[in-house]
Amino acid sequence: MSLTRAESIALLEQAGLKPKRKLGQNFVVDANTLARIVRLGRVTSESHVIEIGAGLGALTQELLSTQASVTAVEIDPDLVQILRNRPELSEAHIVEGDALHMDLNEVVSLSRSPWVLVANLPYNVATPLVLRVLEDVPQIQRMLVMVQAEVGERMAAGPGDDAYGAVSLRVGYHGTASVAGRVPPTVFVPRPKVDSVLVSIERSPEPAVDPGLVSEDEIFALVRQAFGQRRKMLRRSLAAVVSPEAFEAAGVLPTARPEELDVRDFGRLALSLK
Ligand code: SAM
Repeated sequence: MSLTRAESIALLEQAGLKPKRKLGQNFVVDANTLARIVRLGRVTSESHVIEIGAGLGALTQELLSTQASVTAVEIDPDLVQILRNRPELSEAHIVEGDALHMDLNEVVSLSRSPWVLVANLPYNVATPLVLRVLEDVPQIQRMLVMVQAEVGERMAAGPGDDAYGAVSLRVGYHGTASVAGRVPPTVFVPRPKVDSVLVSIERSPEPAVDPGLVSEDEIFALVRQAFGQRRKMLRRSLAAVVSPEAFEAAGVLPTARPEELDVRDFGRLALSLK
């Protein structure tokens, strides 16, 4: 049984706590949503799961019910104390710290197997957390994360979509993302003002552009410059760095706008500057 709304509120009250908005503390209190997250995360007894932002442990408990091995990171020492005192979570490895700055490679070095990140992420830092995992923690091979709808749509967007931009390209450099479902504010305590989405991200075996040819930094310097003037044609926004010959060599139309290019197109443009 997962934590009900009343049990979650009671846990906070007993500890004299209020949800901290600056830490994105919106707790899931709906059993169906928790089961859905675990199902979409394809968590089994064989899985090594890392959860970022364990809160009161509602999702942690649901993850443990699969017999998976679960490591849960939480920044708030008040909540860590609650997590460590809940007997239902005794099988979880609880780590206190800031997932944005801690050594996550050390955390997942507990097992050499591939890991999956399954989390209801703190909304204020969801994008940097996902990008950090993709860029720095290769052992985490998949993710099923709940994030603010607008943020998730940006992660999963493709060329031509309204939400497409630098974040979509960064995610696309490392893997494939899709929105796996929508979640209403009613499943949380306290209720956020916006809808949430569940985003599934699968890491690709190799980055989309061979780092031996052109580095991620070189590609994303161009991406930043192009999206800095999103409505302009590339021949205008990139005039200072990409010559007409370089556009031709890359096979990219100088009249295109940045939202029409995928990460491989930007990769070829960056390569044509070398
Ligand atoms: N997993 C719980 C649930 O689903 O009910 C709580 C999710 S809540 C949206 C996000 C949690 O992340 C909060 O407990 C918050 O304290 C924690 N958090 C915020 N920033 C964090 C960070 N940088 N590193 C680790 N945890 C963080």
